[in-house]
Amino acid sequence: ARIAMQDAAQQPGRLQLYQQGRDAAQQRQIRLIRDLRHAAAQGQLLLHYQPKLDIREGLVRQAEALLRWQHPQLGMVSPGEFIPLAEHTGSIQLLSAWVIEEAMRQLQEWDGRGVWVQLSLNISTTDLLDAELPGRVGALLARYRVAPEQLIFEITESGVMLDPERALQVLHGLRGYGIGLSVDDFGTGYSSLAQLKRMPVQELKIDQSFIRELDDHSEDSVIVRSTIEMSHSLGLKVVAEGVELASGLDLLQRWHCDTAQGYLISRPLAAEAFEAWLAQPYRSPLAKVH
Ligand code: C2E
Ligand code: MG
Ligand code: MG
Ligand code: MG
Repeated sequence: ARIAMQDAAQQPGRLQLYQQGRDAAQQRQIRLIRDLRHAAAQGQLLLHYQPKLDIREGLVRQAEALLRWQHPQLGMVSPGEFIPLAEHTGSIQLLSAWVIEEAMRQLQEWDGRGVWVQLSLNISTTDLLDAELPGRVGALLARYRVAPEQLIFEITESGVMLDPERALQVLHGLRGYGIGLSVDDFGTGYSSLAQLKRMPVQELKIDQSFIRELDDHSEDSVIVRSTIEMSHSLGLKVVAEGVELASGLDLLQRWHCDTAQGYLISRPLAAEAFEAWLAQPYRSPLAKVH
């Protein structure tokens, strides 16, 4: 922004345009922050589901639930835009509560139709500091009769770094109910292996920035291979996120990565579309030869 400002300052006309743009962006933010507080109550939130492919079995029995906000005037707002705002203004807990309950409701509905999936949910930094979260989740598990093995909570390393003692207590509480735990966006934070060892997690998701353009000789390939090996020696399953290329999936399969998620397998889908997708005979894009 500073560069844009300097640039614009040299040309008065452009400065005005720049300021107008910035004002519009600020106004949008203010509006989103205000409207977020009522989004859940007004029925504007929904979950989309992105399949996770079990690379060994060539099957999909897992998905990540991703929050969507259908704003009545602004249309679909992406979580990349509104989640950070919610985190900074305190409405994240409201959103998380909605996500957790909606996921359980959906699992119960699917269970009634004989559909079994394991869902991953994204949990924010703030949630990890909420000592009451495990108890509330436990109560919801009972209310919706969801098996805890059907849920994985995705956390980020930075979320744990903020207040490790408190976060670890919350994580152990959730784990105590039998919920799975996963480290999201691995490789982008500042975590240490020591930290990872202390966390009661069973899965690690390699950030998509290492995966999207994966090939056999890049630096990314060294990072990805060694992360897979390290995870396995720590007893963790590995998910590669952002798999877009068949060639990338082939490499991941060769390197014994456990799970793949990305546009190559499927984009995130609305609940009904996801259910229909699951019901179809699936031909995975995995190479047949090992
Ligand atoms: P994330 O948890 O790392 O989720 C993966 C994101 O990557 C999703 O974006 C997904 O649509 C996208 N993605 C998946 N495969 C590909 C691919 O092959 N190529 C590309 N380019 N992108 C791919 P989305 O849904 O926009 O979510 C963005 C972020 O917002 C999430 O990143 C997560 O940090 C946050 N988020 C989403 N839903 C929730 C939620 O319910 N609660 C919280 N706290 N955060 C959420
Ligand atoms: Mg995630
Ligand atoms: Mg991620
Ligand atoms: Mg993320």
